[in-house]
Amino acid sequence: MDLKQYIATVPDYPEPGVMFRDISPLMADGEAYRYATDQLVDYAKSKNVEMIAGPEARGFIVGCPVAYELGVGFAPARKQGKLPRATVKATYDLEYGKESALYLHKDAIKPGQRVLVMDDLLATGGTIGATIKLVEDLGGIVVGTAFIIELKDLHGRDKIKGYDTFSLMEY
Ligand code: IMP
Repeated sequence: MDLKQYIATVPDYPEPGVMFRDISPLMADGEAYRYATDQLVDYAKSKNVEMIAGPEARGFIVGCPVAYELGVGFAPARKQGKLPRATVKATYDLEYGKESALYLHKDAIKPGQRVLVMDDLLATGGTIGATIKLVEDLGGIVVGTAFIIELKDLHGRDKIKGYDTFSLMEY
């Protein structure tokens, strides 16, 4: 299946000069969503994953069905003020020049757990880098990273070199 036909490209969003890649048509098509999920599940199985972590909000859309299929847990990395109990924090630079922070509950990952970190899209790598840092702060072992889309020109892979990286398509 050619998954690229399910990606909508929106020029100048969220600001001029940015080509936004939108996965919502893929999610809207049951067969395409399942097909994409199955590829990610195969990758996760090859890494003997014990836990999945992903940043809000599209990391949940991509990671949760994989966690369900594998029968493993999912750790949501969230923005400030969303997690009610004790957290760890990681700050990072956004693609469009601002700073942000992500948090995980301190008990979200057990030390030594094999964790796959997932999001919809790899751009500069800041978001996934922060999620990796949170997992490692809690003693997790990041065994891979996986995405639906990778934006090659932004060189996100360089930021997370040393981690195995899998994506379903590139732009
Ligand atoms: P990064 O931190 O620069 O790698 O940006 C990746 C994060 O920003 C992911 O959580 C994406 O959901 C979001 N993002 C950045 N660019 C796009 C895009 O073109 N389409 C959809 N999401 C994007």
